[in-house]
Amino acid sequence: MGFVLSPSWPNPADARRFVPPQIRRRVKVAERRAIRRAVTLSAGLMAVLVMADLAAAVAIGAGNVLALAPFSLAAAGIGAGASLLAHRGVRAEPLAFAALLAVFSVGLLGHGLMPDGRLLGTAELAIIVVGAGLFLPWHQRWHAAALFAAFGLSAGFVLSPLAGDLTPTERGNLVVAVAMAGLTSGVGHQLWQRRLRGMLEQQFALRQLSRYAQRQEAHVRELNRELNHVARRDSLTGVGNRLALDEAVARLLDQGDRLRPLPFAMILFDIDHFKAYNDEHGHLAGDAALGRLGEILRQATRGTDLAFRYGGEEFLLLLPDVDLPGAMAVGERVRAAALEARDLPPFTVSGGVALCDPADGRDPEPLMRRADAALYLAKRAGRDRIAADELSVAMQRHEMALA
Ligand code: GH3
Ligand code: MG
Ligand code: MG
Repeated sequence: MGFVLSPSWPNPADARRFVPPQIRRRVKVAERRAIRRAVTLSAGLMAVLVMADLAAAVAIGAGNVLALAPFSLAAAGIGAGASLLAHRGVRAEPLAFAALLAVFSVGLLGHGLMPDGRLLGTAELAIIVVGAGLFLPWHQRWHAAALFAAFGLSAGFVLSPLAGDLTPTERGNLVVAVAMAGLTSGVGHQLWQRRLRGMLEQQFALRQLSRYAQRQEAHVRELNRELNHVARRDSLTGVGNRLALDEAVARLLDQGDRLRPLPFAMILFDIDHFKAYNDEHGHLAGDAALGRLGEILRQATRGTDLAFRYGGEEFLLLLPDVDLPGAMAVGERVRAAALEARDLPPFTVSGGVALCDPADGRDPEPLMRRADAALYLAKRAGRDRIAADELSVAMQRHEMALA
């Protein structure tokens, strides 16, 4: 994107930078809101100031104050009305134009009617013209029109009989003061208008960028979740893979502590004579048998995600918070379920059970080795059965003796 993101005073190069149409539209809307607010405020303020001016003139007993009063009241009315209408949503620029010229005209009339307030009056006229440039974020065309109208009114005033007893120098001074104030107002208006627009554009561009970044972040988080899931799943059988297994064992070993270890059991399953099964029925049938065993194991550990493919035709279950008979029963259920897979060529599984020994600390190796040894016992005893390793049997006996 081609914008400058630091708020800086506009320079000529800024004029040619690219602003996307949707930002341009939003800036327009924001500008309209700003104009309405500015006109509501400044027209209301002008009405109040005109009334205050009149009150001050009455208080100090300025000459001819009563002759000026109807015009002051009218100008204040126009200002207040413009403020109200702008607030209600009527197009703000013509309202501001009317209010500005009304107040300006009263200022001029004051010149003609109140000789003792002339110096202050000239300052007031200049302030009105400069103030409009600094506080009205209306379009430059409207501002230029207002300046020309104000200048025209002053020129017309000094040439008319209304100027009455003004000396030629006073007339000249008035016109020059208004012209200089107009020049300042025109330049100031253009500068601050451009700055305002630049700031709005940057603000909307930043908001757009931030929304985009938030969407991207959510997308990346979602992808990450998916990636994490896929990276830990065995695609053929739907159970966890080695990475997931290693993490789960480490987590279980981590949860307990030396004094109160978390008891859990591990069962290592292996399909019997699987090489022969593949040779006899083909690898696709072999894959189907692996898939079925995965399904059986997922059901055996419903909701806990603690079934894993250890490799080849070997699978592993982690069973938190069970004793040896409990773990043996789960192993038996899995073995029996494998026998019931009637839509596939029949296959059997053997399983080795080992209980976690707190004496091994956080090292998973001894537990794995014992589960493997138990599996070997089951295979040696004729397969299609579940066996436990010696240490686990001894641990269970000890527990029973204590109980
Ligand atoms: P045992 O009863 O002693 O376990 O005998 P076995 O034949 O099952 O043991 P062995 O380890 O010799 O054979 C394992 C076989 O598992 C060999 C390999 O072809 C097969 N196998 C491993 N992974 C896959 C797989 O993803 N798909 C299929 N179809 N077969 C696999
Ligand atoms: Mg094997
Ligand atoms: Mg095998």
